[in-house]
Amino acid sequence: MRAIDQLILLCRWIIDGQLHCLCWTLQTPPQLLIYKIREKNESMDLASLIDVKVKLTNKGRSVFASRSFSKGETVVVGRRVMILPQRTNHSFQIDFDLHIELDEPARLINHSCSPNTGVRNNKFGAYDFVALVDITEGNEITWDYETTEFVSIAVPECGCGSPSCRLRTHGFKFLPVKIKKKYGEFIADYLKDSTCLTEESQAHFF
Ligand SMILES: [Zn+2]
Repeated sequence: MRAIDQLILLCRWIIDGQLHCLCWTLQTPPQLLIYKIREKNESMDLASLIDVKVKLTNKGRSVFASRSFSKGETVVVGRRVMILPQRTNHSFQIDFDLHIELDEPARLINHSCSPNTGVRNNKFGAYDFVALVDITEGNEITWDYETTEFVSIAVPECGCGSPSCRLRTHGFKFLPVKIKKKYGEFIADYLKDSTCLTEESQAHFF
C-alpha cells in the first residue's frame, strides 16, 4: 500500500490562496496533520508530505523518511514557488542565470557530501529528489547542493559527517571531475554539457 492510501482527508480550506488540508493518517502511530498545498489537485504534494516528515534538529528543520525507499524511487517532489533575483542560502539554481525557491519539504532538505538522494529536473520547473541508495525509515533525507549550484554559498562549514566530506560547498564549477561524474544523470540539466562536466576549476578559499 502506498502511504497516500493511508490518508483520510477530514477538511480543507484556503488561506491567502493556499489550500490547507487537515488529514488523519492511518500509519502507526496515527497522526493528525495539516498540509499546505499551493494549488488544488496537487495530490503529489500529499504523497511527498506523508512519505517524509519534518523535524527540528541542530541543523534547523530537516527532512526524514517516514517509510523506507528503494533506490530509484522519488522521495520528494519539489515545486517552484518563486524566481529570485540572485542566489541565496536557500535558493536552488535551475540555469546559469536562474535561481528559484522551492516549496516545502523540498527546500528543507539538508546538504550532505554523501547524500542519499540526487536531483532530477521535473515538470514543475524544479527538482525531484530521487533515492540514490535504499533509504531506511527514519533516516534523514539529504542531497548534494553542488549538484545544482554552479557556485554555492550555502554551506561555509559542512557538518555532514561523511568520511568524504568536502568541508564546505563551493559549487559544481569547482568539483573534481571524478565527483561530477559520480552522480551520473542526477545533476541539474543545465550542468550536463560536456564543458561543465570535464572542466577542472580551482576553488579559491577565503
Ligand atoms: Zn560534508
